[in-house]
Amino acid sequence: MRLVFVGPPGAGKGTQAKVITEKWKIPQISTGDMLREAKKNGKLAPELVEKMGKGGLVPDEVVIDLIKQRTELPDAANGFLLDGFPRTVPQAEALNDLLASRGQKLNVVVALDVAKELLMERACLRRTDKRTGQIYHLKYNPPPPEADLEHRADDQEETVRNRVDVYEKMTADLLPFYEKAGLLRRVDGVGDVKEVTARVLSAIEQSK
Ligand code: ADP
Ligand code: AMP
Repeated sequence: MRLVFVGPPGAGKGTQAKVITEKWKIPQISTGDMLREAKKNGKLAPELVEKMGKGGLVPDEVVIDLIKQRTELPDAANGFLLDGFPRTVPQAEALNDLLASRGQKLNVVVALDVAKELLMERACLRRTDKRTGQIYHLKYNPPPPEADLEHRADDQEETVRNRVDVYEKMTADLLPFYEKAGLLRRVDGVGDVKEVTARVLSAIEQSK
């Protein structure tokens, strides 16, 4: 199973991706996580660090290269879930080419829909456990006292607003692209996490 999660920042892609990938034993591949890891290790060019910090997108070639390398690893041989990639049509085309060169294709693209007002609250109150990568929310999914919490640098109100704007502009063509390809399944991302998981699973099931 090769699937893609699309959705604005704070839509719940990472949260749902964790559940699905644990269930199906496929890797969750998040370009955002990979870029943050590279940044932490001092391996991300300063201009890209600045771009990310402001909530802009890094160049297509950078993320395409990351995906090319990551999907070649043995754990991705039987499938993977892409979280936050592709975000632009050129990225989606590069992914198609990459998969075609391996005789593979995507099974489904799940788009999580969440209203803008909710996104702000979801992203700004998001906290992640540094050690486990577990995603929490100060209001909806409070972390346990022993969690070693991190607040993402780009989860400040003004930056989140910019990221949502960037998402709307950059991905405007992406959903029609996948709709035309017959791969797009839109899922309502509002409701508790379990409810949304059930909707995601049913959308994937219908596309098999
Ligand atoms: P994304 O990966 O799309 O940016 P996340 O999965 O990190 O989004 O979720 C953003 C925030 O919203 C996190 O704090 C998460 O705990 C919270 N969250 C995710 N899904 C839900 C939900 N269904 N209801 C309430 N809060 C949620
Ligand atoms: P995310 O964790 O998906 O919210 O991504 C965090 C940041 O990483 C984004 O705001 C971008 O700066 C960068 N990024 C992640 N994925 C991509 C992508 N597919 N294309 C361009 N930039 C990306």
